[in-house]
Amino acid sequence: MRSESVSRTGSDAGSSCADEQTELRVDLHIHSTASDGSLSPAAVVSAARTGRLHVIAIADHDTTGGVAEAQAAATGFVHVIPATELSTYGEGAEFHMLGYFIDPRNDALVAHGRRASGARETRMHEMVERLERLGVSVTFEDVLTAAGTRPQSLGRPHLARALVQRGHVPTVSDAFDRWIGDQGPAFVPSALISPWEAIEMIHGAGGVAVWAHPRPDVLESMLPAMKSHGLNGLECYRPRLTHAETERIAALASAHGLFVTGGSDWHGEWQGKLGEFAVERDDIAEFLEVGGI
Ligand code: AMP
Ligand code: ZN
Ligand code: FE
Ligand code: FE
Repeated sequence: MRSESVSRTGSDAGSSCADEQTELRVDLHIHSTASDGSLSPAAVVSAARTGRLHVIAIADHDTTGGVAEAQAAATGFVHVIPATELSTYGEGAEFHMLGYFIDPRNDALVAHGRRASGARETRMHEMVERLERLGVSVTFEDVLTAAGTRPQSLGRPHLARALVQRGHVPTVSDAFDRWIGDQGPAFVPSALISPWEAIEMIHGAGGVAVWAHPRPDVLESMLPAMKSHGLNGLECYRPRLTHAETERIAALASAHGLFVTGGSDWHGEWQGKLGEFAVERDDIAEFLEVGGI
């Protein structure tokens, strides 16, 4: 089966295999400092080269702002697919929609990015206020300091890093567990659009729409509606998914005429080295063909 060829650890692909076609190592879900990743887009490309990734997608939350820098840095070894990850809300839950092969300068997408940027800033102030009310002292300026540069999309990981830096929790993950996880007392949702609007926006920008990290409990019930609104693919190969989970997503994709993709959802070195997780050409051949890769 397809998932058996997924490389979950650093392999020797690239050094010993003679066939370029079979050794293509791909990661289609990476964040940069344009949103809540810790490396600049150019530094992501450099890390990808070090990690022997041949094809990557810069998929920042609600922005395409990092794509141009990454593409400019990608000479030779690394190919950069323009992408974005749109936060959406519908049917009582949050869904992330990946858009691939989009035009990063598409008017509607850029306008949405600008609206989302403002809304995310307002939302960050709200989460900071909620934390204050919970007796957890942190300021908006702490969040900007933790972010380093001023990202187009401020996100919860920036707030989590600020909470670590202020000494409230030892790790980012503890900040999510205690306060800002999806069910946490200081959580405020960020999504401005429905999944259907996201699919339409991605198609309007010339791209294909892929449901990111589909939640197992709603995957099957949401698929018919997603499909009828034009969904093109499911994110199937991810670190930490079991073989059975991957198989289930691949089978549902096949049953609904969707292609599969895969990526690490990498934000920084605390998640390991970029390239430790990679998907191979055969796993996602249909998707790569869409982009002529
Ligand atoms: P936001 O777009 O601001 O809602 O932030 C979403 C991001 O927060 C995701 O892309 C993840 O990187 C991160 N995130 C969500 N839940 C957790 C968690 N439980 N632990 C660590 N990071 C998380
Ligand atoms: Zn993120
Ligand atoms: Fe996501
Ligand atoms: Fe992501």
